[in-house]
Amino acid sequence: MSATIIDGKAFAGTVREKVAGHVSRLKEEHGITPGLAVVLVGEDPASQVYVRSKGKMTVEVGMKSVEHKLDVETPEAELLALIDKLNNDPEIHGILVQLPLPKHLNEDLVINSIDPAKDVDGFHISNVGLLGTGQKSMVPCTPLGCLMMLRDHHGSLSGMDAVVIGRSNIFGKPMAQLLLGDSCTVTIAHSRTKDLADVVRRADIVVAAVGRPEMVPGDWIKEGATVIDVGINRIERDGKNKLVGDVDFDSCAARAGAITPVPGGVGPMTIACLLANTVTACCRANGLAEPEGLTA
Ligand code: NAP
Repeated sequence: MSATIIDGKAFAGTVREKVAGHVSRLKEEHGITPGLAVVLVGEDPASQVYVRSKGKMTVEVGMKSVEHKLDVETPEAELLALIDKLNNDPEIHGILVQLPLPKHLNEDLVINSIDPAKDVDGFHISNVGLLGTGQKSMVPCTPLGCLMMLRDHHGSLSGMDAVVIGRSNIFGKPMAQLLLGDSCTVTIAHSRTKDLADVVRRADIVVAAVGRPEMVPGDWIKEGATVIDVGINRIERDGKNKLVGDVDFDSCAARAGAITPVPGGVGPMTIACLLANTVTACCRANGLAEPEGLTA
């Protein structure tokens, strides 16, 4: 079998188009412009790139983009004061604090100081609890993007066996909650899982978020399964820098029914879902019907 390639880049484009359509309706019919504030502390090069592209895409869909770049040594009280100001700014509907933060800042404290209704990353403890209890919440962007791609490919996920490899708070756990919410039978695997190959072989859906280059070989994949590769790993091969995922693409694609590539799979969906979350937050804040198909 040769797998269908799930084109995350193209799909992210359709999500952004939908967001842009809602933004223009909000402006025309209600005079509201959704606003997203991104806070970056320090000068981590990868974070700077993310923040730049988030800002660019926010403007492209017609939303207001605000960037706050703070010195690496910014005291915690100053960062908390900025978040408080953004929490109380009616023109800001989404707040994202770019992670990781410098070591002297308490990440949990900072994230939990964001108004949960504006927490477009979905990392606030209230949103984690709401998602875990199946209530309306802000859903973390990368798992939301994976869910959208799976729903688009399969329609219903009900009754499918899903294995999520990785149990991080930012990805593995919320991904598992979302799959459970769509009535999959979910296994969360991690570094202590026994017989990982056998666990993965049972799965109709395999979501790999480990951070180990090409760790999952094709012979772990059940014939016809759907493979979602979340990993982003930079490696050197044949003297060149290359981006690879957590699954061995060629051998997995030979057995899977569908697979996301790296790059061009899950990655582009993350910012698209950040924009989707911002428009959803804006609708909720204004008591308006929220767009369909842009959240879990
Ligand atoms: P993380 O916090 O480092 O978590 C990695 C998880 O993998 C842990 O739960 C760990 O288990 C598990 N693990 C490690 N070695 C394993 C092994 N040999 N067998 C089975 N499980 C193993 O990573 P993360 O933040 O979730 O990110 C995972 C990957 O996704 C990274 O490559 C990251 O770059 C990528 N990512 C991409 C996006 C995007 O596309 N926008 C967003 C988020 C993450 P333990 O808990 O037992 O240690």
